[in-house]
Amino acid sequence: MTNVLLFFIDGLGIGTRGSHNPLDGLEAAGPLAIFQNEEPVIPFDGALAVTDARLGVVGRPQSASGQTTILTGVNAPAAIGYHKQGFPNRALLDIIREHSIFLQLSSAGVAPITFANTYSRGFFESRPRWISATTAAVEAAGLAFNTVADLKEGRAVFMDFTNAMLVERGEQVDLRTPEEAGEVLASIVGRHRFTLYEYFITDKVGHAQDVDAARHVLQNLARMIRRTLETIDLKSTTVILTSDHGNIEDLSTRSHTLNSVPTLIWGANNRNIAARIASLADITPVIVQTLAPESAN
Ligand SMILES: [Zn+2]
Repeated sequence: MTNVLLFFIDGLGIGTRGSHNPLDGLEAAGPLAIFQNEEPVIPFDGALAVTDARLGVVGRPQSASGQTTILTGVNAPAAIGYHKQGFPNRALLDIIREHSIFLQLSSAGVAPITFANTYSRGFFESRPRWISATTAAVEAAGLAFNTVADLKEGRAVFMDFTNAMLVERGEQVDLRTPEEAGEVLASIVGRHRFTLYEYFITDKVGHAQDVDAARHVLQNLARMIRRTLETIDLKSTTVILTSDHGNIEDLSTRSHTLNSVPTLIWGANNRNIAARIASLADITPVIVQTLAPESAN
């Protein structure tokens, strides 16, 4: 039996080296330090699939359509005719509600599956008018949302995995080091056939064009990922890390980039899996194929 972790990072493309790229020269940035036209050395014997985020549609790749594509295997920008920013609109929600990875796995009998992120109290008290692609996917599949109580019990990780932003919101939770957060995520992955974790501070920092903040965020994220990889059993777990579009790798511009994104794969068969990923639309099919080989078409 294989378990799969899909680690989604918002706004991380494969950039060129130079002062515009906070990953260039950043110490201990592996596995995130991937550069154009270079053979990367990926810790824990990871494999890289250079992944197209433009999907044959003109314009800069955006979050709502890119995330919908990652989470469904449907080329969402092609389906709606453009790259949709921010939160999914009705057409994208329809795609998510019909094709999400959670639904595909559930109907193939793959269980248990989880979205590891924590939702804070505000989400339940006054539901936001616009919801993320992930939230829509969780809801449509009838999965439970993890709460702060789940986080305290080691069953969830906040999007800011150090919990600092949760404390700022007035929640009584302990801070976690990136390593502690990685260990919690690894334990969640060990208990589920499929786990999704979403991290989007990279995209926020990219838009802010703040080099110091970007370096700090990337270094902590790299530490958290390395500990996750160190703690889980890579013989029985496949880890797939990907992004929806470039951003943080080029701080000379406030907007998203046209760069490809890195999809990194660890665990059994990772080179074979990497060879099957060319665009964001290939992520969900590869995961379904890995977890439910009989049902994948
Ligand atoms: Zn995004």
